[in-house]
Amino acid sequence: MDMARTSSTDAMRLARRAWGLLHEDSARAITLADRALTLAQSANDASAEAWARLARGFHLLYFATPGQAEHELELARQGFAAVEERAGIVLAGAGLARALWRAGRFREAVERVLPLRDEGLQRLKHEQRSVLLNIIAGCYSAEGRSEQAFAYMFEALRDSRRGRSHGYDAVLHCNIAHELLQLGDYHEALRHIDQGIERVVRNHNPRLHSVLLINRVICLTELGRASEALPDVRAVCNLPADASGRGTMAAHFETLAVAALQAGEQALGSDLVDRALAIERAPIPDEHLELAVAEALRESLRGDLSHALMALREAQGWADDGREGGAEGSSLRIRCLYWLTLSRLQEQMGRTAAALDSMRVWQRLHVERAELASRARYQAAALQTELLRLQHKLEENDARRRATERARAELEAANLALSRKMQEVQSLQAALRELATRDELTGLFNRRHLNDVVPAMLSMAQRDGQPLAAVMIDLDWFKAINDNHGHDAGDRLLAGFGRLLARYCRKSDLACRWGGEEFCMLLPHTDARTARRKVLGLLRRWRDESTTLAGVPLEPQTFSAGVSDTLCVPGGASALLLAADAALLEAKCSGRKQVQLAASAPPSAHESDG
Ligand code: GH3
Ligand code: MG
Ligand code: MG
Repeated sequence: MDMARTSSTDAMRLARRAWGLLHEDSARAITLADRALTLAQSANDASAEAWARLARGFHLLYFATPGQAEHELELARQGFAAVEERAGIVLAGAGLARALWRAGRFREAVERVLPLRDEGLQRLKHEQRSVLLNIIAGCYSAEGRSEQAFAYMFEALRDSRRGRSHGYDAVLHCNIAHELLQLGDYHEALRHIDQGIERVVRNHNPRLHSVLLINRVICLTELGRASEALPDVRAVCNLPADASGRGTMAAHFETLAVAALQAGEQALGSDLVDRALAIERAPIPDEHLELAVAEALRESLRGDLSHALMALREAQGWADDGREGGAEGSSLRIRCLYWLTLSRLQEQMGRTAAALDSMRVWQRLHVERAELASRARYQAAALQTELLRLQHKLEENDARRRATERARAELEAANLALSRKMQEVQSLQAALRELATRDELTGLFNRRHLNDVVPAMLSMAQRDGQPLAAVMIDLDWFKAINDNHGHDAGDRLLAGFGRLLARYCRKSDLACRWGGEEFCMLLPHTDARTARRKVLGLLRRWRDESTTLAGVPLEPQTFSAGVSDTLCVPGGASALLLAADAALLEAKCSGRKQVQLAASAPPSAHESDG
């Protein structure tokens, strides 16, 4: 059992570590994730298994096909759902959206990820949150909604800087740069690329490194500085094709080819076009268009203009933005590149009118792109403000929650103090009850009270020159009542005897419950013999009255008693009571249901009650 617990903790630790390493050391991340998965499965740790699958799924997003990533992320999502880990469910959902995005299913991706936004903002922290925000941004970016994309990306960058970013800020710089270059903001894009590269060279993330380099290639090429991009082109080619050993890494050979060919590197460019053509592609418009441009550039450098034109014409379907959904996901930048290349080629071929038409399309797209860029800048700022407001609201709610918790804690402390006070009061009440003079069950005085008053009664008797009688009474076989009828019935019988005793007393007499089923009476102005007669009368009354108990017939009850008085026991209060008690014992020993006089005053025979 201990073994299982140890390995399950190990599995979780490994899975979390794999997740943390995804962007810092992708090869080690997948190794750890695989190990975590095996461990989690053998330890039956569903939560660790889901985390391991999540890390694997995100790795596959970069290094495998979208379908493979989707499969793993779906298993992760189901795993999290089974153990009800909301943060995991959100992250897996975001990963699934990213897989859709990678497969070119942009709208589905947005539909999938947006519902996770609010919960994700609340539940996720720092780098996990920025993973979610970045995926939302990517979906918007693919839909051509740059302003939304920017807002989310900057927000994500802010988040990832808050905690330990696990190298994720490099991803964000890369994506922001990509978005900027879509809008033609190449200098700003280069700034982010350099920041990203600065971080990525410290890590082992060949995939991200290559994407950053490719983005720099695009910027430099678009700025007409393609030859400056050649070192990056070569660097990308020299990066390991697939650091994980899974599938192929989309190397964007078409982008590299365009750069090389524009720099006049015909051999390198041609080789890159071949490599680009060899890759089987998802229906991603940008890739198909850029590949066509690369092919056209190669053919025109070779002097084969008609082949160049053919390559472009074949891809034109991807560039037409007239038909519904036709240009979904094809970026303005690539469409500009396409129409400009086409126009130049047509001009070169002497087809001036066609060249002019293509140029007009390019111009229209170019204006559109510039407008989009300026709109994006404003709207991104506005959206960022909105996100900030949302963030403040979340923080406010958080503060409110904390305040409520504090109030609750204070209330609890107050309750605790109150209940302590109540306990105090209760024990004081108990003490007071103890101090009280009455016995609760019978309503007679209690022993404490009798002890308190007996000295006064004695001195009064002495002063008056009158005897004071003391009587000790003990109910016979009382235990049997409890045994046969229950303790409650016993209580009722005791209470009944108490009432009888109270009725039987004169005003000046004092009757008390001595304890248990024992009672004591003090009778002023009475000697022992007189007292004995009275008590014998009481015994008869008790026999007559105790024939039922709570409606159930009862064998008539008796008691035994001992009587003493101050005449025969000249000592103090305790001597008087002890003498009565000794007489009571004698009564018990002589067969019960009788009243004995204390030693020095033996009873006359006819007074015995047999
Ligand atoms: P004996 O004739 O020798 O006095 O027999 P006994 O059964 O009366 O005497 P014993 O001392 O064996 O038992 C006394 C019983 O009285 C036992 C005890 O449970 C019961 N008793 C004492 N106080 C109370 C009380 O307040 N309520 C009830 N129901 N029973 C009590
Ligand atoms: Mg007793
Ligand atoms: Mg008894």
